[in-house]
Amino acid sequence: MLSCKEFTHQSSRMVDNEELTFMEKLNSRIHMFMCKHCRHYHNQSELVASVAKHLDCGDAPDQEIDQAVAQMKKFSDNPTD
Ligand SMILES: [Zn+2]
Repeated sequence: MLSCKEFTHQSSRMVDNEELTFMEKLNSRIHMFMCKHCRHYHNQSELVASVAKHLDCGDAPDQEIDQAVAQMKKFSDNPTD
């Protein structure tokens, strides 16, 4: 199984839409299944990337940004399932 450090590197690559090998994808999915901390990390990374993408375009509705910030705050207050 990947270490958490190795997973975070691959998670960054996934969020950046880099192509991963079959084994990299499989190992990442297994790690996310087994490790709730990395699962949360990856979900938060995708959320931040999604918001950043909207901000780049300047078309993010205020309501969507507020929801994303509220979701991140909720996670940081209580990072469990
Ligand atoms: Zn982990």
